[in-house]
Amino acid sequence: MTALRGLTTVAELAEAGLVPEAKRADAARVAERYAVAVTPALVALIDADDPLDPIARQFVPDAAELVTLPEERADPIGDLAHSPVEGIVHRYPDRVLLKAVHVCPVYCRFCFRREMVGPEGLGTLSANALDAAVAYIAARPEIWEVILTGGDPLVLSPRRLQAIMERLGAIAHVKIVRFHTRVPVVDPARVDAALIDALKASGKTTYVALHANHPREFTADARAAIARIVDAGMAMISQTVLLKGVNDDADVLAALLRTFVENRVKPYYLHHPDLAPGTAHFRLTLAEGRALVESLRGRVSGLCQPAYILDIPGGHGKVRADSTAVEEADDGCFRLRDFRGDVHAYPPQAD
Ligand code: SF4
Repeated sequence: MTALRGLTTVAELAEAGLVPEAKRADAARVAERYAVAVTPALVALIDADDPLDPIARQFVPDAAELVTLPEERADPIGDLAHSPVEGIVHRYPDRVLLKAVHVCPVYCRFCFRREMVGPEGLGTLSANALDAAVAYIAARPEIWEVILTGGDPLVLSPRRLQAIMERLGAIAHVKIVRFHTRVPVVDPARVDAALIDALKASGKTTYVALHANHPREFTADARAAIARIVDAGMAMISQTVLLKGVNDDADVLAALLRTFVENRVKPYYLHHPDLAPGTAHFRLTLAEGRALVESLRGRVSGLCQPAYILDIPGGHGKVRADSTAVEEADDGCFRLRDFRGDVHAYPPQAD
C-alpha cells in the first residue's frame, strides 16, 4: 500500500503556499484546537492562487473556525447519547455505527465529529473495546447492518480491516457492512488489491459510501480507485455535505451528482451541514438548501437525485429536509418531526 504523508501543520501548509503569511497566526490558533491534514493528492488539486478555491476551503484551516455560535455543539448529532458501549452508536433498531478508529487521512474543516477525530481524538478501539463492540452486535439479532465510520475506517491496515470483517462475517444476522470513507478521492493509491480484499466477508454484502463534495475531487486517480472497488463487486453510494462556498450552486451540484453516477456511485445523501463548532461560515439556511435541492429536480436525472437530509441535533436521527416532516414556523425557525413522531425546534435552543 502506497499512502504518502500529507501536510499536517500550518508551517507545512504555508510552505506549500496554501496559507498566506497574513493568515498564518490565525490558522495556527485553529490548528491548536482542531486537527489538520491535507493529503498530497489534494495539495496537487488546490489552486493556491484562487482565494475561493473550493478544495482549499474544505481542508485549509480558516480564522472563521475560531468563532463558535451558541447553538453549535461539540457532539451535534448526539453520538454519545446513543453509545451503549465504546465504539458503538445504536440510534435505530436495525443498524449500528462501529467507530473502530477516529483518525482520517484529511480533516475536513466542517467535520461534524471534529471534537472526536484527529491525533488527539478518541483514538483507535483497543482489542478489549473491539471485543465488547462485536459482542454487543452479536447479542442483538435485530442488527441487520453495521456501518464502519469514525474517523475513516479505510485508514486501517488491510490486516486489521480483514480481522474486523472476519468477526462480523461470523455473525449470521448481520447482512450488510457499510464503510463510510473519503479515501478513494483523497488518497486513491491506498485503494489497492489488499485493501479491497479486506472489505469483503463471505455471505455479507459490502457497501462503500464515498464522501465527496466537489466534482474536481474526481481526478483520474480517484476515478480509477472507485472503479477498482466497483469492479471488485461492491456497491458504492455517495455522501455529500452541502457547503457554502464549495457546492452551494446548482451547476456545481448537478456536475457533482452526475460525476458520481458516471463513476457508478449512486447518489445517496446530501447532508445539510451540522451544528459543529466553528462551522457557521459553511452553513446555508434550511430555506436556502431546500430551494437549491428543489432546483435540481427537473435539472438532473432521477439517477442523480440524493436524499436531502438533516441530522436532528441531539441525536434524534435523520429527517428528509425537503419533506413535510420539516415545517417552517412563524418565528422563521423550523419544526422537525423525527422518525418516532417527536417534534424538535431547529435551530435548537442553545445549551
Ligand atoms: S473524513 Fe469524515 S470524519 Fe474525517 S474529518 Fe472529514 S467529515 Fe470528519
